[in-house]
This record gives sequence, C-alpha cells and structure tokens, in this order.
Amino acid sequence: MSVLIFIDIAEDGSVKKSSLEALTYGAHVAQQLNVAAVGAVLAPTNADMAALGKYGIQKIYQVNHEALQQFDAQAYTKVLAQIVEQVQASVIVFSHNNNGKAIAPRLSARLKAGLVAGAVDLPDTANGFVVKKSVFSGKAFAAVSVTTPIKIISLNPNSYKTEIAEGSAEVVTFDATVDAPKVKVININKQTDEISLSEAEIVVSGGRGMKGPENWGILEDLAKELNAALACSRPVADAHWRPHHEHVGQTGGAIAPNLYIAVGISGAIQHLAGVNRSKVIVVINKDPEAPFFKAADYGIVGDLFEVVPKLTEAIRKS
Ligand code: FAD
Repeated sequence: MSVLIFIDIAEDGSVKKSSLEALTYGAHVAQQLNVAAVGAVLAPTNADMAALGKYGIQKIYQVNHEALQQFDAQAYTKVLAQIVEQVQASVIVFSHNNNGKAIAPRLSARLKAGLVAGAVDLPDTANGFVVKKSVFSGKAFAAVSVTTPIKIISLNPNSYKTEIAEGSAEVVTFDATVDAPKVKVININKQTDEISLSEAEIVVSGGRGMKGPENWGILEDLAKELNAALACSRPVADAHWRPHHEHVGQTGGAIAPNLYIAVGISGAIQHLAGVNRSKVIVVINKDPEAPFFKAADYGIVGDLFEVVPKLTEAIRKS
C-alpha cells in the first residue's frame, strides 16, 4: 500500500511550488497510514527528482514518453492509473491547480475512487477518512468522509506548509503504456512572461479605481519591487484595461498568495470569492466604507495615486 503524489511540472521544467506542498502533505498522509509515500512524474523535467526525498518521499516513478511531452489530461490519467496499480496506492494526492483539477476527476471516475477537491488539512484517520475542504468559494469548510477503498485528494494551493528534512528518493523509470495523443498542441502563443498568478507568493491587484489602463505603470512598478504577479477585478478585464487571465474572483482565477494587495477595488463578494484564501490582505482605497476593508488585515485609506508610488519608493529604499 502507498500514498501516491502527482508531481506537477512547470513550463520551465521545475517542480511547481503547489506540488511541493502536495508532496509534504502526501508524505504526512503516508505517515498517518503507516505506508510508503511515492511520487509520479510524467512531464519532462530538469529538476533533481532524487532531491524531492527531502519532502518525505521514498520513491519516485518517472515516465519518459514522447506522447507525454505536452500535458494531456486523458493520457496522464491513463498512465497514473497504471502507476496506482503498480504501487497499490490507497490515497492519491494532487495539487488543486489547473492540471490537478483536470486529472483528479478523470482518475476518480476511472478508479471509482472518492474525490475530495480543495482539501485544506490532513485527513482525520481516527474516524474513518474525513477530510476538511473549502466550500462556497472559501466562505465555509465541509468535513467530507471518503468511503471508497481508493481515495483521491486535491490539495488547495497555499493551504499546507512544505517541510524539508534530510532525505533522498529512489528514482525508477516506469514503462507505461501510452496511447497516441488524441489532441496535439501545434502552437502556443504566449501572452505574457510575467510571474504565474496561481503560483505567485505576492499579488498586486487593481480595480476600477485605477481609472484607466494608462495608469497601470504604478502597479507594475510596485509589483516589480515585490517580485509580485499582477491581477485585476472583473470590470477591469471586461473593459480590456487588462488581459482576462489577470481577472480574479468568482468568475475568474481563484488565488491564495501569501500577500494580496488590492488597489482601488471595492471588495464585492464576487471578487472576494477568488482572493479570500490569501494569507494577508492589504487594501488601498480612498473610501473608508469600502467593503474590502472588512476582509483586510491592513488597510490604507487614501488616494491610490498618492499612496502606491510612496509605498513603492519605501520598499525600494528598504
Ligand atoms: P468598483 O466597485 O467600481 O470599485 C472601485 C473602488 O475604487 C471603489 O471602492 C472606490 O472607492 C475606489 N477608488 C476609486 N478611486 C480611487 C482612488 N483614486 N484611490 C483609491 N481608491 C479609489 N468581480 C470581480 O472582481 N471578479 C469576479 O470574478 C466577478 N464575478 C462576478 C460574477 C457575477 C455573477 C456578478 C454579478 C458580478 C461579478 N463581479 C466580479 C463584479 C463585482 O460584483 C463588482 O462589480 C466588481 O468586483 C467591482 O470591481 P471594482 O472593485 O474594480 O470596481
């Protein structure tokens, strides 16, 4: 028996930060169940797989196959099912990111395994297998009891801290049966080289209070000083002031950075739905009654066109 953790690889070949959290989480679940923690990597990577042992993983199955060079949820699901059988996995852990969300439900259907999507804590194994998960856009938590022999968990990014110890994982090549891809990506037209929003530790976000796209320079300066990703509210993306991939909220991306700086955003419930899992929220708004201040850890009441450049300058000097 084992706990299998899917290792998600970023475009640059490194292991995604959210996957490192999933590795630590999976290793801790394995400790709870007193079974081995095993990783599976399917995408091409330049990361040192053996070094992932420091997250508590004993063994990593690596699949090198031309048909897996590009992410394909159907192909990845089929290969993972083969690894599940090989390692007799009773729990399979994903990060609840785009790739995890694409594979976990497919694998759940294929293996007839109960799926907990968006887990935020370790399972309670003393009372069956009960997992706490985030529901209603992060407004509440549900305790979900999984009753199937195989259980699948996708872990909300930034909800579980990575832990590092001494250790090295055994890396073995897994000979998988892979079908020719049904869909082939022939070209990717990258819109941006900016820091990925879902992986960013810090996010600087602008709303309608920015008045227009021509004013975004002050947010870009702040983001640059903080090594932060940029985001925006929905009306900003709808008005084409910013690209749609930056839109966060109920109908946009859901993010959970360590620091979210909201500039000129009122804090509508639909916006909060995508950002309320942020560890620390800073709100800059000229209206002291703006609803966002209720969700903020720190608030600055003032004109953003005065506050933001001063903040950037202070960070630059510090
Ligand atoms: P506004 O509400 O116009 O707020 C602008 C803020 O800027 C105000 O608080 C104002 O005080 C402040 N401000 C103005 N000038 C300055 C200044 N000089 N200095 C400092 N502060 C200033 N919205 C999302 O963001 N994401 C979603 O996913 C989303 N999904 C939705 C889904 C549905 C079904 C619906 C109905 C709505 C959705 N919305 C979403 C829209 C949401 O309800 C709000 O309308 C939107 O979030 C408001 O955007 P805003 O805060 O940028 O603009």
